[in-house]
Amino acid sequence: MTDNVLIKKLKALITIRVIFVTLLLGSFFLLQVGYGSFPHPRATSNLIIALYILTIVYSVLLGRIKIYVVLAYAQLFIDVFATNMLIYLTGGIESWFSFIMPLTVISASVVLNRRAGYVIATLNSILYGTMIDLQYYNLLPIEYSTTLTERDFLYNIFAHMSAFYLVAFLSGYLSSRLEKTAKALEQTDFNLKELALFNKEIIENIPSGIFTTDINGDILVFNKAAEDITGVGRGTAKGKKIDEIFPFINPPDSASLKEGGRGLTERMEGVIRHPEEGERIINLVISVLKGVVGEETGFIGIFQDLTHFKKMEAEMKQKEKWAMIGELSANIAHEIRNPLASLKGSVEMLRENRVTEEHKGRLTEIALTEMERLNKIITDFLTYSRPRAAEFNIFDLNLVLDDTLELLKNTVPVRNDITIRKNFIGTLPVNADHQKLRQVFWNLGMNAIEAMPDGGELLVSTKKGDDFVEVVFQDTGVGISKENIGKIFYPFFTTKEEGTGLGLAIAYRIIEEHKGEISIVSDPGEGTVFKVIIPNGNGRS
Ligand code: ADP
Ligand code: MG
Repeated sequence: MTDNVLIKKLKALITIRVIFVTLLLGSFFLLQVGYGSFPHPRATSNLIIALYILTIVYSVLLGRIKIYVVLAYAQLFIDVFATNMLIYLTGGIESWFSFIMPLTVISASVVLNRRAGYVIATLNSILYGTMIDLQYYNLLPIEYSTTLTERDFLYNIFAHMSAFYLVAFLSGYLSSRLEKTAKALEQTDFNLKELALFNKEIIENIPSGIFTTDINGDILVFNKAAEDITGVGRGTAKGKKIDEIFPFINPPDSASLKEGGRGLTERMEGVIRHPEEGERIINLVISVLKGVVGEETGFIGIFQDLTHFKKMEAEMKQKEKWAMIGELSANIAHEIRNPLASLKGSVEMLRENRVTEEHKGRLTEIALTEMERLNKIITDFLTYSRPRAAEFNIFDLNLVLDDTLELLKNTVPVRNDITIRKNFIGTLPVNADHQKLRQVFWNLGMNAIEAMPDGGELLVSTKKGDDFVEVVFQDTGVGISKENIGKIFYPFFTTKEEGTGLGLAIAYRIIEEHKGEISIVSDPGEGTVFKVIIPNGNGRS
């Protein structure tokens, strides 16, 4: 027990005693009780007055004496003596005041501790027991009723002593309980304070900006990072509404967050104006703040400054773009140079007069084919790099496939070692650009045929899903090696002597434009499966 607590208890003891003695004294004089029956009425009143004076002495001593335990014991001892004196003066065994003794025991347990309670109980037992004994043997000048026997005296002592110890036990138990609870509470209080401090430190030192607002959007908490990122001091921030600092937040209301269906949380990105550093891009997550019983008390937001990151990202993208353009240009140059070289060769030879008529015809033929090839490369490249905008119409995809396959058959009539089979079910209505899809299927079909130089079979099948359609081109050709499979959609990637490498790049673009997917399964020597999935466009406007 600390001195402070003891002083408080001593003061309480003194105060209670004053009240008690005052009541006793007051009633004693006012009502003139006991003047007839008490053996020593005058002495009794003197005792009460003495107690009163003692109280004043205690109060003075409390300011002087520093060993409070001694002071407490002294007071308790004097209380016991005074009580016994009062009992003695008011008739010993016949006194009305024996009830005060248990009160001194209680005071001892409460003011000091359990042990003090037992000490005071023992002191009371000794004093009271001796007094009653002496009274019985008529060694004290107090009379008692002749009807009282020896057994009455013994019983009286026994009853009082058991009461003292019982009270000492009970009050000691209670006060030690109280003390333990108080200690536990103090510890809990300390822990809570520690926790609060810890939380505060975390919030202050976390590198993300954090704010909280009340339900109206008025800012309550604004951490250090929040100040740094926004350039607004917390003093200023605390008087503001959240959308004054983050204009891209609609004045928050939980209803809109709830409608979002994202568990009362919304992620957003926006721009704020930093007073010194200008525009900053902010990434922010805002959630509803809930109180202990789950009621909505406001909002909490956590945000980061993405400005630097975004700038870096943009720079990277720009660099990538230039690199791609560079690569593309190199590829185009390469593709164009080959036919140009043979064109140049043919024309140079034609210029010389020595060539025969027959030779002239062949050279002209070559020149024309090479020009044709140049034209095709450029047309394909333009289709890839500057595609015409898609025109969506509803049509039966099976019919378009039919057309395309027919065209393919006519293009390769000489290749009678290749069979083209189809497996269509019913109709396949889609909302798409039929010309563009025709081009996709043509490219896939041509690739399949080119992949089967020694003949084979191309199987084209279609399937209808819930909200998509599926077209599969399966060939028994040479297949694609593992290292090439990742590159076949790159523009200009080709493994063919006469190839442009644009067919699949164009197909990929078109399927992407239709929000579909194109995937491949292939093993060298085992053939290749191209699967195209496009949404059937029921939901498309
Ligand atoms: P190109 O046909 O002009 O070479 P593509 O973009 O159409 O260009 O095809 C790129 C490459 O993908 C082809 O050169 C070929 O190596 C590979 N490829 C495409 N389809 C098939 C297929 N069905 N079987 C095997 N290889 C294929
Ligand atoms: Mg091709």
